[in-house]
Amino acid sequence: AKTAGRNAVRFFDPAMQAILVVRMLMESNLRAALANNQFQLHYQVQVNADGKLIGAEALLRWKHPDRGFTSPADFIPIAEETGLILPIGKWVLETACAQLKKWEADPDTAELTLAVNVSAKQFQQHDFVDTLCDMVSRHQINPTRLKLELTESTILDNVDATTEKMHLLKKIGIAFSMDDFGTGYSSLAYLQRLPLNQLKIDQSFVRDLSEDENNATIVRAIISLGVNLGLNVIAEGVETKAQRAFLIAHNCYAFQGYLFSRPLPQEGFLALIKEPASN
Ligand code: C2E
Ligand code: CA
Ligand code: CA
Ligand code: CA
Repeated sequence: AKTAGRNAVRFFDPAMQAILVVRMLMESNLRAALANNQFQLHYQVQVNADGKLIGAEALLRWKHPDRGFTSPADFIPIAEETGLILPIGKWVLETACAQLKKWEADPDTAELTLAVNVSAKQFQQHDFVDTLCDMVSRHQINPTRLKLELTESTILDNVDATTEKMHLLKKIGIAFSMDDFGTGYSSLAYLQRLPLNQLKIDQSFVRDLSEDENNATIVRAIISLGVNLGLNVIAEGVETKAQRAFLIAHNCYAFQGYLFSRPLPQEGFLALIKEPASN
């Protein structure tokens, strides 16, 4: 009776009803977006301490002909709830592999690694490893150029199955970065066991690095932890020279953020890396 009561309330609550309708609309719009090629990948550069370009992160963009761009922060959660993240995530990986193949043919981009965000539901598919291996061989790309960004919660959700998949993919050369590091609950025991290559410091810690003592302490601790575990550490959300200077002084290996470039469509990304160095 209680359940029925709750359902009844839910159904007749106009505010809740409105939310459900908006979600249903978003779901059907996302389906249409896939069918009508409204998704794009944008690329944000990653540089090392010498300012050398070492790679990029692929970031998903949804461009509707009338409504323009919708932020992934707004549609990824709904894509995850509805399961649409599976076909969308496949499209992302497929597009990233095709892009890497093109980069291989150009000496200016041949050495770059491409980092791709993979959501929990996507990585937890039992056929994820087979699907990705199949893509790598179909596109004939060098798998060592591909890096998967997984969050702590994705990994810890189902740590045994996830670790096994990571080991299988690592065997063929695919690298792993732990995304948004510091915002979750990984323990040292897990960090040591996981076949990771990189820790990515979440931008929330980088944001007020110069003003906030706590964030400075956290960032220093994350970098030492990474270095001690033999991982490279990258910082995201680097917007100022002061942030970059602090990070370099504390041995952070790589950097990504508006200081270097915003995420760009592939033509803009290529133009950026081909323009003569200005400083
Ligand atoms: P994320 O993986 O933590 O990506 C970093 C976000 O910070 C991106 O937002 C990027 O555009 C933004 N950013 C980069 N540099 C700066 C900076 O200097 N300052 C500030 N304030 N922001 C910066 P975006 O592109 O809106 O993506 C949001 C989130 O959506 C991503 O967070 C990621 O969790 C998710 N996402 C994006 N693309 C994909 C995808 O292909 N698959 C999945 N599953 N998730 C994705
Ligand atoms: Ca990411
Ligand atoms: Ca982040
Ligand atoms: Ca994230």
